[in-house]
Amino acid sequence: MPLRSTRLRRRENDRTSLPSAQGVTSSPRTLVQVAVAAPLRRLFTYLVPEELPAGLQPGQLVEVPFGRGRARGVVLGPAATPEPGLELKAVDRLVEPEPVLPGPLLATLRWAADYYLVPPGEMLFAALPPLFRQVGAGSGELAVLVARVAEGVGPEALAGLAGRAPLQARLLGALVQGGPAEVARLEAELAGAREGLRALAHKGLVRLEREPRARAPVPADLPEGAGAVSPTPDQVRALAEIHAALDGGEFVTCLLHGVTGSGKTEVYLRAIARALSQDRGAVLLVPEIALTPLLTQRVTARFGAQVAVLHSGLGAGERQDEWRRLRRGQARVAVGARSAVFAPVPRLGLIIVDEEHDPSYKQSERLPYHGRDLALVRARQEGAVAVLGSATPSLESCAHARGGRYRLLRLPERVHQRPLPEIEVVDLREVLDPLERAHALSPRLAELVAATLDRGEQAILFLNRRGYSSFALCKDCGEAVRCANCSVTLTHHLQGGGLRCHYCGALQPLPERCPSCKRGRMQLFGLGTEKCEAEVRRRFPGARVLRLDSDSATGRGAVAEILGRFARGEADVLVGTQMVTKGHDIPGVTLVGVVLADLGLHLPDFRAAERTLQLLLQVAGRAGRGDRPGQVVVQTFLPQHECVVLARENRFDDFVEHELARRLALGYPPGRRLLLVRASHADPAKAAALARRLAEVLRAEGGARCQVLGPAVSPLARLRGRYRWQLLVKCPRVEDLQRVAGAALRRVSPPAGAKLLFDVDPVDML
Ligand code: ADP
Ligand code: ZN
Repeated sequence: MPLRSTRLRRRENDRTSLPSAQGVTSSPRTLVQVAVAAPLRRLFTYLVPEELPAGLQPGQLVEVPFGRGRARGVVLGPAATPEPGLELKAVDRLVEPEPVLPGPLLATLRWAADYYLVPPGEMLFAALPPLFRQVGAGSGELAVLVARVAEGVGPEALAGLAGRAPLQARLLGALVQGGPAEVARLEAELAGAREGLRALAHKGLVRLEREPRARAPVPADLPEGAGAVSPTPDQVRALAEIHAALDGGEFVTCLLHGVTGSGKTEVYLRAIARALSQDRGAVLLVPEIALTPLLTQRVTARFGAQVAVLHSGLGAGERQDEWRRLRRGQARVAVGARSAVFAPVPRLGLIIVDEEHDPSYKQSERLPYHGRDLALVRARQEGAVAVLGSATPSLESCAHARGGRYRLLRLPERVHQRPLPEIEVVDLREVLDPLERAHALSPRLAELVAATLDRGEQAILFLNRRGYSSFALCKDCGEAVRCANCSVTLTHHLQGGGLRCHYCGALQPLPERCPSCKRGRMQLFGLGTEKCEAEVRRRFPGARVLRLDSDSATGRGAVAEILGRFARGEADVLVGTQMVTKGHDIPGVTLVGVVLADLGLHLPDFRAAERTLQLLLQVAGRAGRGDRPGQVVVQTFLPQHECVVLARENRFDDFVEHELARRLALGYPPGRRLLLVRASHADPAKAAALARRLAEVLRAEGGARCQVLGPAVSPLARLRGRYRWQLLVKCPRVEDLQRVAGAALRRVSPPAGAKLLFDVDPVDML
């Protein structure tokens, strides 16, 4: 975690030295520094225009001349006077009167841009509704320019103007009598009104300001407090700590480590209620908003119209409306995935990160930031309390809790002392019949599914691979069909028919003859969720089966629809990918089957074991959450693997202990800080050369403090037609990583067509 960095403190000092509260005064020579919405690492200086007598505040959204056109930007603060002779342009217009990024949020984002080595404008605009980026947008729907009489100016001012400037006198008269008016309307009635108003503004008689236009209707208020239960003693203890932290009004991080079904959600809801009672707002982050419709419903049921749900399915306008409700404090609780960490909640008191271990909090592509880590940075900026919740916390968070930087709150039992499910391991090597072996369900799992169906209960079957078969092999030469653009085999799908690449999406029909030897016929091997579903339907003809994976759940609301049907008992079996493992609380589920636990264990990723154990315990945790106890079956070829053994015995803490020791010994996080540098190019020679050049600079700059591994071909060697190479830098301190990366950014100029990614604290190692 980035928290102890001295950079943060320095930034805070910077901030206090800016005249941010008063703004920048309105002399025409006043300059502001602007982060422009463009992938450029530098900041730009602009003149404050005369018609903005109040100057510009940090965090305000502006439109500026940029290159040959215009661009959107965010004001950062006053700029130093540039060298003489440099021609400066003025800000075109202020798009929103109020800063779109309030102080602490702006500071968090600037910190993030430095920390993750990304262009500041890109980082800032990632926090804003996408419409804010569009030049020209907003003149209508965002804000209107309004003229009103300046304070202390009365009818007597008219007398002074009457003879010399009749137009100005008329305008001022209209404002004195009729109150504030839109400039566009005055202009329509009176030619030259805009110029007249500017002159009046210059004399200090009139104020010109952009103001929001009437907003979209707010959802009706639901009855608050619906669904409250009385907390268990463990919940009471955890809440006492969180409430004390909230009352203290200072930045504190709590790690809420509660087993599956221990009632973490109830703790979140009560903590949010406490923050609201202190007139402060809250943010609740969930790994994937579409996968948590039931949690979202619980939050909305409890807090009604005070909640803004930041769905990925929101249209641009709706997103902006929700953003605005938050910014104005009309909604005080934001619920959303990763990017909701930037929700513009004023007076933020609480940030909760549910399932904090979930890898989807890390964005790995264009802007590689970690939502959970930024939640802590923001909490610190706001003097807020951060609560990280999980049944299987990340090793990083466990280490911080052990080191005392996080307060550890434990919910060791399920509510009402419901037992954790029993986990039974099926050794697939002992399934000797080759026909049985090709099945998703071993005889033991099939037997338990049958029994569950007989009792009228529900089962979840988890297989972390979609499609029907995993690959198509030639019976003659043995070659598998590979993607033309990526270095992976294609997966056979029934739905949408044919062979599909899971990385680039390329689709082709299943060939009659082998594309390599042109002779052999193709045979399908391996198992995906589609085949698993088909098998369950075949073996249990009376069962109602649903499938949840990214193929079955396409389109807005599809996931909620499938989960909703299953939760209402409209299906008996749910088959799916890791989408079925996430937090679902469905009391009818008494059986969970893990079809193949081994899938994630062989990935070339130092977190492979951690991920596998987390997935196993999370999916197991879906069973037995109601009155009836749960049972879990884990099928594997590696029953002796530590993850399988510790999952069966529910010994997560022991795993943490062993794994922390191993990570320290091998120099991986949380022992060391990592930087992943990935270079890719359509030309394999150029990709390799770029990687070699990067290695040179990284090694030269890193010195003895940093260890540089590589360059090596990425495990995923080719993606969408681009050849990929990577380097891994390990350092004891993040400052070293940033220095090294900074040097590489300055000194290596990638050839045209190259892509270069610097990923600090990487999660995706492929
Ligand atoms: P977790 O997030 O820890 O897996 P949940 O918050 O989903 O657990 O709670 C599990 C179940 O227990 C839910 O159905 C919830 O409504 C119920 N529950 C939580 N707290 C209480 C309580 N204090 N009294 C009764 N039921 C509770
Ligand atoms: Zn592909």
